[in-house]
Amino acid sequence: MHGALAPWETPVNTTVKTDWHARAATLAPRSGVFIEGRFRPAASGATFDCISPIDGRVIAKVAAGDAADVDLAVASSRAAFERGDWSRRAPRERKQVLLRFADLLRAHREELALTETLDMGKPIGDSLAVDVPSSANCIQWYAEAIDKIYDEVAPTGPNSLALVRREPLGVVGAVVPWNFPMIMAAWKIAPVLAAGNSLVLKPSEKSPLTALAMAELAVEAGLPPGVFNVVPGFGHTAGKALAEHMDVDGIGFTGSTATGKLIMGYAAQSNLKRVSLECGGKSPNIVMADYRDVERAARAAAYAIFFNQGEMCSAGSRFVVHESLKDALLEEVAKVARELAPGDPLDEATKLGAIVDAQQMQRVLGYIEAGKADGARLALGGQRARGDSGGCFIEPTVFDGVKPSMRIAREEIFGPVLSTITFRDEAEAIAIANDTQYGLAAAVWTRDLSTAHRMARAIRAGMVYVNCYDADDITVPFGGFRQSGMGRDKSLHAFDKFTELKTTWIALS
Ligand code: NAD
Repeated sequence: MHGALAPWETPVNTTVKTDWHARAATLAPRSGVFIEGRFRPAASGATFDCISPIDGRVIAKVAAGDAADVDLAVASSRAAFERGDWSRRAPRERKQVLLRFADLLRAHREELALTETLDMGKPIGDSLAVDVPSSANCIQWYAEAIDKIYDEVAPTGPNSLALVRREPLGVVGAVVPWNFPMIMAAWKIAPVLAAGNSLVLKPSEKSPLTALAMAELAVEAGLPPGVFNVVPGFGHTAGKALAEHMDVDGIGFTGSTATGKLIMGYAAQSNLKRVSLECGGKSPNIVMADYRDVERAARAAAYAIFFNQGEMCSAGSRFVVHESLKDALLEEVAKVARELAPGDPLDEATKLGAIVDAQQMQRVLGYIEAGKADGARLALGGQRARGDSGGCFIEPTVFDGVKPSMRIAREEIFGPVLSTITFRDEAEAIAIANDTQYGLAAAVWTRDLSTAHRMARAIRAGMVYVNCYDADDITVPFGGFRQSGMGRDKSLHAFDKFTELKTTWIALS
């Protein structure tokens, strides 16, 4: 089921530069279904190969959980919820457990980062500096919040007392994607558990390993067994079973819009469980004619599409630029792109790693062909890279002369491909920005305060950045309009998704 060593039991040497390849050779990730605080094989006994996109190596044989495992996990989570040793525990005590959990994530930073990088291909430097610390900070923030939130007394008048309280939903299912496996999981785990729910987590079949490690650490931190179960497996089996389950009270989903629609259907056809969706995007990054620091805007634009290999829901994938600035901006973007040539993800100097798997790589390459076929000009990149590594790498790619009607301007590519579209005036920029089924993020670069505010209001998106891209803080809600989803991750607003409001009326006369 799993190797002798947990990921965090592999030797750590802090005195010399880490040889991540050597560490990778001894890593034995957990790979079973995690129910009731222990790992076990899938009920069917089936496994699937977890393949590293770095070199095509099988890094684990992971239990292929399905409906039978989901049944067991939900029953365990339900029993834990009814037992009350988490759901009815004082918030300050839940806080202490979750703070220990955050500390354990930090203590096992290197093993978790290595697992994340091997599993989904992102650079080890990013896993160490971003994915593990952000996940730990997220758990800590909700832990600290939970004993500082007060319920309400409604202003009903002298003859009654009406209490408005928040209660946990009960058993929450979470289905998450592969692009930030730990962080996307943490955005659900933290508010779900802090609020007193039980959780069944279904990680992506493309990146199941760190979720399993996180759950084991949560139990080590003192979370009662059964409160947090993990069922690795495929979407159409384990994910569907969770979303259809009659004893799951809410489902928190992050993934594609197409799957989000299925999840809503499953909820509607089963028990009308609470659904929250964080879905895809095709976000416009708009540079107005008055913005003069071309280098700064271009550098931000490059990172907005090339960071994490472009596998970001909020990626600034449509570069919507005033026609007068286009050439200068693209020249600067090309300079940054050259610094971001794909490299070995296990080298701490690498900035651009591997695409998550061969299927996603082919999908991205297919979009590059579609861009060319539709008449856009390939200005940079466009090729597979590091092919002799056996891994899945794609050069940073920039298209110029993109029309809003082209597929590369309309569909989420989820790879390092930038589509450049020009405009002549503000009205046209807004029209292009809003010409999409999505509404996750957008950016406006301008020196004019009124332009910034006017455009921020006019753009239909959940998050608008002005003179920056991907500004990030756990205190600020994250989520989108339209088919980018419903509900918000991060901030106190995330509790809305995972709690019920209960009113209690007391007659006083
Ligand atoms: P995906 O929709 O293919 O899969 C997401 C999860 O859903 C996986 O765990 C998968 O196994 C599961 N799933 C697939 N089919 C299912 C089904 N029929 N029933 C139940 N579960 C099913 O998405 P992905 O390729 O893993 O992730 C990329 C997508 O995620 C992109 O669209 C991206 O924009 C989106 N995303 C959104 C946010 C956000 O906060 N808005 C954040 C990260 C990623």
